[in-house]
Amino acid sequence: MPQLSFIKPTGRVTLGNYIGALRHWKPSAGSVFAVADLHAITVAWAPDKLRESILEVAAVLAALDLHSEGGLVFLQSGVPTHSEMAWLLECMARMGEMSRMTQFKAAGRNDGSVSVGFFAYPILMAADILLYDAEGVPVGEDQKQHVELTRDLALRVNNLYGPIFTVPEPVIPAVGARIMSLKTPTAKMSKSQDDPDGTVLLLDGADEIRRKVLGAVTDSGREVYFDPEEKPGISNLLEIAAGLSGESREAWAERYRTAGYGTFKRAVAEVVVEETSVVRTRTTALLDHPEELNAILRDGQERALVRSSPKVRALKNAIGYPLAD
Ligand code: AMP
Repeated sequence: MPQLSFIKPTGRVTLGNYIGALRHWKPSAGSVFAVADLHAITVAWAPDKLRESILEVAAVLAALDLHSEGGLVFLQSGVPTHSEMAWLLECMARMGEMSRMTQFKAAGRNDGSVSVGFFAYPILMAADILLYDAEGVPVGEDQKQHVELTRDLALRVNNLYGPIFTVPEPVIPAVGARIMSLKTPTAKMSKSQDDPDGTVLLLDGADEIRRKVLGAVTDSGREVYFDPEEKPGISNLLEIAAGLSGESREAWAERYRTAGYGTFKRAVAEVVVEETSVVRTRTTALLDHPEELNAILRDGQERALVRSSPKVRALKNAIGYPLAD
């Protein structure tokens, strides 16, 4: 089944993004990998930072060759069918069902300053999914409710107008590696820059990676073994090493059990440097040659528009717009 994944450009790309998500993504005919930049403006943003983040995320997707094999890589903001479909679906969604979205209830319900886009974004997400006839959508638990909304909207349209949409299923991936901050190994490594030394960025240079990994907090004791309760720092480093090398946490722990924390950390730092070097070099080269990246994105957005337009036309036609065909 071709994959459909959107990544929101709300900061720099981290080693956590790479190990937990990006490195598992593979292109195939029909796959869709988009920079969800329309989703990035539902909360306050700074134009310069947004631009930088969009280009970095796009360059990483292209560096991973996700536009090969017939796969699509594009900026959501460059493909107008997303906004157009979102509007059509907004007029079919109900305030009641939208007000029940737990993410909105948690973050926006009692805050009059929250944007209308923040309230409506699950419908944009439904548009992103329904435009491409995605059958399975990989999402975390927190987004499952939004895929259920997508199903409800698809069924509502199909019942009214005939089989226009494929009704998608949420696919909750088996729990993968969760990479924690190097400085606070009980908190997730995240894109927010509050924790610069705890977060390895995919584009950090080799020396910066070594500095951060060698500066990771460790735990009491001297032995290296996996036990997130007792040894959160060491366990996180084992998770990172295993996530990148393909060798198990146990194999790493076995090899470094009595080697001392310093030796272990140096080995982990080298794996991070080596295993990210190809994607880092390619991404940097694309950012240094914007014409090449722009060409990939323009080609992606043209193909995305061609692929998604018939769905918008079909719905507009069914709704009653005379010139939609
Ligand atoms: P985000 O934009 O932070 O929601 O992350 C995008 C993707 O990267 C999600 O699919 C996450 O599963 C993955 N991801 C982000 N941070 C981490 C982390 N610290 N460990 C593992 N995966 C992560």
